[in-house]
Amino acid sequence: MSVELHDLEERLEEVRGEIRSAAKRSGRSEADVTLVAVTKTFPASLIRTAWAAGLRDFGENRVQEITAKGPELTDLTLNLHMIGHLQTNKVKAVLPHISHLHSVDRVHLAEEVAARLPDGRILPVFLQINTTSEASKSGATPEDAETLLDAVGALDGLSVRGLMTIGPLDGTEDDIRRSFVSLREIRDRLERASGLDLPWLSMGMSGDFAIAIEEGATHVRVGSRLFGERSHR
Ligand SMILES: *Cc1c(COP(=O)(O)O)cnc(C)c1O
Repeated sequence: MSVELHDLEERLEEVRGEIRSAAKRSGRSEADVTLVAVTKTFPASLIRTAWAAGLRDFGENRVQEITAKGPELTDLTLNLHMIGHLQTNKVKAVLPHISHLHSVDRVHLAEEVAARLPDGRILPVFLQINTTSEASKSGATPEDAETLLDAVGALDGLSVRGLMTIGPLDGTEDDIRRSFVSLREIRDRLERASGLDLPWLSMGMSGDFAIAIEEGATHVRVGSRLFGERSHR
């Protein structure tokens, strides 16, 4: 499946307009929000088209796709964000290709990342928190967040910049907003407890990114609104 540059430019303009309005409603500007274009299931050629449209941050959720597409894109200056669940035995393969990791949800994973990072490399990471208590979702519980931060913060190479969550998969607007408010409040609590700066909040997808920005999102992960429906995942 291919996406035409012209169609993509139109959709991108719409999405950027909604980002701008939501940022304004939260007293911020569009520049405070990074649009991470989620290209999972699409080929590397789509990323090239999206790059031509002006996008520079891309999100993928599968190691196999990242290791396949990454080497095809080395001529482009871009950020590749790992936004999906990461198994420890795949850490080594994925690290050379990614710029950000959104899904640090357990100490063991963070330790493996620290062990595999080359000397001197600093990887910006988000701690993934399950704010909706949906058992099917990964993410540390809000109760475990402080312990996770203490452990990850002590590791070399990982720089914890903030938190990430996935909103309720089907919920009312109130449920969705409550999940994003909860992530922000957990962040505020962690900052007070640790004295660290945790400026980033990765929350909001195609269906709910405006709400997320109103509640403080700095990174929104948008796929289908830009590229159309996926056939799977
Ligand atoms: C697929 C995915 C997205 C993007 O979903 P859309 O609804 O297509 O915008 C965002 N975040 C994560 C973690 C995803 O897996």
